[in-house]
Amino acid sequence: LEERLDDLECRIPKKYETVKFLNYQVRKRILVTGGAGFVGSHLVDYLMKQGHEVVVADNFFTGSKKNVRHWIGHPNFELIQHDIVNPLYIEIDQIYHLASPASPIHYMYNPVKTIKTNTLGTINMLGLARRVGAKILIASTSEVYGDPDPSHHPQSESYWGHVNPIGPRACYDEGKRVAETLSYAYAKQEKVDVRVARIFNTYGPRMHMNDGRVVGNFILQALKKEAITVYGDGKHTRSFQYVSDLVDGMVMLMDSNYTQPVNLGNPQEHTIQEFAEIIKEFLNVKSEIQHLNGVEDDPQRRKPDISRAKKVLDWEPKVSLKKGLQLTIDYFRTELETQQLDVEH
Ligand code: NAD
Ligand code: UDP
Ligand code: UDP
Repeated sequence: LEERLDDLECRIPKKYETVKFLNYQVRKRILVTGGAGFVGSHLVDYLMKQGHEVVVADNFFTGSKKNVRHWIGHPNFELIQHDIVNPLYIEIDQIYHLASPASPIHYMYNPVKTIKTNTLGTINMLGLARRVGAKILIASTSEVYGDPDPSHHPQSESYWGHVNPIGPRACYDEGKRVAETLSYAYAKQEKVDVRVARIFNTYGPRMHMNDGRVVGNFILQALKKEAITVYGDGKHTRSFQYVSDLVDGMVMLMDSNYTQPVNLGNPQEHTIQEFAEIIKEFLNVKSEIQHLNGVEDDPQRRKPDISRAKKVLDWEPKVSLKKGLQLTIDYFRTELETQQLDVEH
């Protein structure tokens, strides 16, 4: 009845009461491209709760309406089904440009489209930013460092990277490198106010369960009591950041005056073998750790140097791996139960 009354009287429903009220002088109209994806939807939650107007533009390639459905109907929220390789003419104050597949399986599915999304799509968003005078933050990636030279470990922003331009990951890595180049060309030539976040491996609720990435694979395998698959000898490393830390960092970067690229990641580094053992222990399962063939062009070590983010943004990750994994596993369990119920009915 309450909900019906909300509808009839056009009141903001009770479920939205967490949203702050901002008056028009401070409220911004913010575009989040890729806002129906994993990271984008958490960013949307944050911005909506701050009281801003949020427009999501997404083609739902890897994202889903489900990730933002709790905002549908809110007067501050708009969802546009739009492919970013096509121009977009709207009025906006800020742009968080996240539209791009992120996991190797997704970005290798259609490499040409991945390149178009990161190049043409980024040109369109920079063109939009230029026309309306909006600040724009580009979601770049640690993949711009490629398979880092061991003398550049951990990776700092001054490292130019070591990327195979014609390998299987090139569509994404080089696409993001061009996106960065475009951003600074528009900044210099057209005076667009750009921010570049170099994001390292991120996990959390709403991440894709079946996109082949290591966090999802290991959790699912352990929950199903299947063997945990380590590609190669397991000595290669990654550093995992929880999604709320990333969202805080992106907003702090957007709101800062700092225009050079900034690494956002958690510097706690684990070998993949260690990570498999952490998941087994965490879920208290006896799954076998199975070593499969290594993957082509797989970066051997990855760890962010976050001194720049600490210095210029006063940002560092707060969520421990233990806490982050617990929240992610709870999400995976609920998703699995829901899928099971769907199959039964
Ligand atoms: P995701 O796949 O969950 O989200 C990407 C979103 O972009 C999806 O909603 C997808 O439908 C949308 N999209 C893709 N192509 C599009 C197009 N042509 N037009 C419009 N929408 C399009 O991935 P994510 O993990 O949330 O990643 C978000 C951003 O962060 C990406 O730019 C990614 O490169 C970057 N990033 C993520 C990570 C990570 O570990 N998750 C690490 C580094 C960088
Ligand atoms: N663009 C857009 N929305 C806008 C303005 C521009 O999508 O509000 C796109 C448009 O497709 C254009 C691209 O951004 O081709 C680059 O714009 P820019 O102004 O830099 O260049 P030009 O219009 O001269 O191509
Ligand atoms: N990986 C693995 N087993 C899996 C999935 C991934 O050993 O089931 C490895 C993969 O080879 C890589 C690391 O885990 O070295 C992280 O892979 P992911 O695809 O998550 O991210 P990225 O390579 O983009 O950092």
